[in-house]
Amino acid sequence: MKKIIILMCTIFIGLSSSAFASTVKIGLAIDDLRLERWQKDRDIFVEKAESLGAKVFVQSSNSNEQTQIAQIENMITRGVDVLVIIPFNGQVLSNVIAEAKRDGIKVLAYDRLIVNSDIDFYLSFDNEKVGEMQGEAMLAAKPTGNYFLMGGAPTDNNAKLFRKGQMNILQPKIDSGDIKIVGDQWVDGWLAENALKIMENGLTANNNMIDVVVASNDSTAGGAIQALEAQGLTGKVLISGQDADLAAVRRIVAGTQTMTVYKPITALATRAAEIAVDLGNGKMPKSNSSLNNGSKDVPAWLLDPISVDASNIKETIIADKFHSEKDIYQN
Ligand code: BGC
Repeated sequence: MKKIIILMCTIFIGLSSSAFASTVKIGLAIDDLRLERWQKDRDIFVEKAESLGAKVFVQSSNSNEQTQIAQIENMITRGVDVLVIIPFNGQVLSNVIAEAKRDGIKVLAYDRLIVNSDIDFYLSFDNEKVGEMQGEAMLAAKPTGNYFLMGGAPTDNNAKLFRKGQMNILQPKIDSGDIKIVGDQWVDGWLAENALKIMENGLTANNNMIDVVVASNDSTAGGAIQALEAQGLTGKVLISGQDADLAAVRRIVAGTQTMTVYKPITALATRAAEIAVDLGNGKMPKSNSSLNNGSKDVPAWLLDPISVDASNIKETIIADKFHSEKDIYQN
């Protein structure tokens, strides 16, 4: 009898712990859902995580540091097992992450690194490579002339990596005098309206003598292109981007944006969901890289970005069904 009771207890504990393991609770804290790219990340992540049996709470801080911290605290209170964070400011989350770790919560930094914190994993694209692709494409299109640098949000670690990659390519040409940097600005919150103002001022300061704008993503490129349009300069001033936003791909087709960097978000968000569920189940995900975030070497998984211009939209963005041919080419 005693043996049967022990056996039944063991089965019960086994069942309840496996039932618990199958319902991993994930808090997805997103910087800013106002940008097209993050809506895609959210949709794919949530769908995949739920298909793996997890439950996901999503919050967006709309680029507000305090809001994001409060949202993460709320997720901790709700008892999530894993926090997946796309930080607005990756430099201010040490305390709230320490709080999460005290509760045994695992933390995955998604797309952007979180520095000086005990995070468990980092998943992103090779962001220095993104910047290199932008620099290479602009130099190939315009090997000499006046270059205007438009960096991303100063609060985003990725913005620094994109710039590092751009400079890996541009610096030798600056040194040789082939190109001249006629402006260097960073766009708060990655917002198009801020990029528009920066571009207006940059054009005025240079009497419109700008040949290339090295914009770090598509939303800032979009803002800058509005300023170029007002001066009748679209298509004449070359400009880079990143994310393959639908509006940007259409601009490439129309000839008003030179290139974008396509990052297959489906691969990123799907992998993120798998990693989050693994972490929630106490498993260490496979890594292909590691990055020091100031407090530890964080295991990482980095994916490859793809440079896209008018010549390869079909075999990249359309082939992947990132956007349909109809959506891109319709007037
Ligand atoms: C991402 C880019 C995005 C930008 C603005 C960066 O951290 O890597 O894909 O365009 O943030 O949201």
